[in-house]
Amino acid sequence: MALINSVLGPLDTKDLGFTLCHEHVMVGPPGFFRDYPELFGKNVVERLVSKLKKSKQAGIDTIVDCTTVDLGRDVNLLVEVSRRSGVNIIACTGWWLNTPAFFTDISPDRIADWFVRDIQQGIGGTSVKAGVLKGASDMGGVTAEGNIVLRALARAHRQTDVPIVLHSFPRGQVGKEQLAILTEEGVNPRRIKFDHSNDTTDVGYLVWLMQQGCYLGLDRYPGEGVPPRQRTVTMKALIDAGYAGKLCPSHDHLMSYLQPEATEDAEEGMQTNPYGLLYMKEVVFKHLREIGTSGEILGRLCVEGPRNFFEGK
Ligand SMILES: [Zn+2]
Repeated sequence: MALINSVLGPLDTKDLGFTLCHEHVMVGPPGFFRDYPELFGKNVVERLVSKLKKSKQAGIDTIVDCTTVDLGRDVNLLVEVSRRSGVNIIACTGWWLNTPAFFTDISPDRIADWFVRDIQQGIGGTSVKAGVLKGASDMGGVTAEGNIVLRALARAHRQTDVPIVLHSFPRGQVGKEQLAILTEEGVNPRRIKFDHSNDTTDVGYLVWLMQQGCYLGLDRYPGEGVPPRQRTVTMKALIDAGYAGKLCPSHDHLMSYLQPEATEDAEEGMQTNPYGLLYMKEVVFKHLREIGTSGEILGRLCVEGPRNFFEGK
């Protein structure tokens, strides 16, 4: 058991409950939600509260919002929808892929200071503290800017003990490169989670990451490229290999995003995922049961992995 930062204050890991470790309440260009909320559709806050309330009633206790500042993070929105829906929300600090050009000239320590402030004092002049650190590398591997951000994440982690989630590109085994940089900076692999890991079906690579101690975010559902049922077959293979306690299934669902027209409820992924945050329970868990996953394992998924990750087991 450990105390972590939720947007409403300290949260005991024993109270995380059913946790989706990689979701997005809102994504847009930085500052747009605050200045032009109508671009996110009509009554966006009410719609978000209603969806989160339904999710809470269906047993979703906690979501980790992986929206960094360059993806438009708005902590005041997270506070409001968490308070009104009863869903715990954990906010992140760090950086996604939209790195400004000056990142090649800045020291990791300077960036780490921003991340540490977000975790220890609060984000953007509020007292809302980040509970997770996020970095990103994609196709083509770790860039020069990505390398600096990774080292900043490592240094912020070593000052705060907040765990690290990494947007990765598993088909290129980019996790190996990210892991090497973080371990060189002294990060224990047990404090790292590789997200989007179900964008590959390469069980050997995924097991290797977990053998190093890392966690896996199986957090693209329905996802693109690999069909969703194949993603679930891969999850079953990892469970059967004995790693249920290292898995963090989630959707990478965008609950609201910038819309060109002011529509009532258009939502990215509505056509492919009408279940929203409930896809895991409604579709994935049913499929897992069909292919022989026990009730005991299903009761642990989305509970044990996230708790272990935050506790650094
Ligand atoms: Zn995401």
